[in-house]
Amino acid sequence: MADVTTQAAPAKAKKRPRELAVINQAGCTGCEVCIEFCPVDCMLTVPGPEYDVHKKLVEIDLDICIGCKLCVKYCPWETIEMIPSGEALQVAAEWTERSVLPDAEWIQGSGIEIVEKGPLPLPGSKVEVG
Ligand code: SF4
Ligand code: SF4
Repeated sequence: MADVTTQAAPAKAKKRPRELAVINQAGCTGCEVCIEFCPVDCMLTVPGPEYDVHKKLVEIDLDICIGCKLCVKYCPWETIEMIPSGEALQVAAEWTERSVLPDAEWIQGSGIEIVEKGPLPLPGSKVEVG
């Protein structure tokens, strides 16, 4: 039997979960129920046209998502799906309409509208004015 203690440690690379959650923004109402359940705070609110808070959407930072499925379970509108990691970035590019993640690789060249102002504060949080 091989002595596993002498094997070299694997290279340090970020291991993606088997599946990632992707929001189909066409069905998102911006209700923010999912945000409350995400254990790693990777769900972001995206302001709507002219930054009207009542037209916001939600998106997921796929670099942070751990694939726990809680958002899928609790979305009342069933507009979040678990997608195999190898396909998730492509699907996210297709299903995302607006984003506050201008540096995300999967957004580059996708035609997604980048909203620079955001994310919006969570419901109930204090907003500094002026
Ligand atoms: S729970 Fe569903 S509908 Fe509500 S904000 Fe999240 S993704 Fe959108
Ligand atoms: S699958 Fe889990 S970690 Fe990923 S966005 Fe949903 S609640 Fe957050």
